[in-house]
Amino acid sequence: MRLDRLLGHMGFGSRKELRALLKAGRVTVDGRPVTDPGTLVDPGTSSVAVDGEPVRFQRHFHVLLHKPAGVITATADPRQRTVMDVLPEDLRRRDLVPVGRLDKDTEGLLLLTTDGTLAHRLMAPRWHQPKRYLARVDRPLDPADQEAFAAGVPLADGYVTLPARLEILSPQEGIVTVREGKYHQVRRMFAARGKRVVYLKRLSMGPLSLGDLPPGAARPLTAAEVDALY
Ligand code: URA
Repeated sequence: MRLDRLLGHMGFGSRKELRALLKAGRVTVDGRPVTDPGTLVDPGTSSVAVDGEPVRFQRHFHVLLHKPAGVITATADPRQRTVMDVLPEDLRRRDLVPVGRLDKDTEGLLLLTTDGTLAHRLMAPRWHQPKRYLARVDRPLDPADQEAFAAGVPLADGYVTLPARLEILSPQEGIVTVREGKYHQVRRMFAARGKRVVYLKRLSMGPLSLGDLPPGAARPLTAAEVDALY
């Protein structure tokens, strides 16, 4: 994250005031005076100080979880295991909230954050960032499915989805890219094409990718990922 942005978030003043603060040599990163407002710092590891006072900048905390199938996207439930139960203990914080929802049977990328405002913004329809899913279905996919997804699929309730992309990987497996997050959207899109989803996994969401994180594992977002979301 840029140093000026970070200091701005922490209330050290306007961009102009921050430039003056930096120019005066009052800010250090890892013990060295820094004057360039664009200096990149890692909120997880860099130690930033203003006038010798360490800046505590972990105001919010964001975790990327590989949600396994069989747990619900909720913070607590009297009967069912939730994504909170899956989070490794060192990353579990009571003020984390999931950003959006994956079905109980869906695996893959789930973001949790302590920043409710951010969560709200990322869930708003106007965010429109691509979400990519790996889907396996019970019958062969065909070019007509791709065309239908590209045109927007009328769902059973009459809603017509925004144009989506279907990339066919093998006869019954594809990658679907959608830019919205309606309830059971991917399953309902395939259902509208007469196909049942038998496996679904979210691979990415906007600038975040699951990578090779195994199911049930989680990690804090990197500084670059946090920066990309704000
Ligand atoms: N679409 C679905 O149908 N289910 C999910 O969990 C996510 C997207």
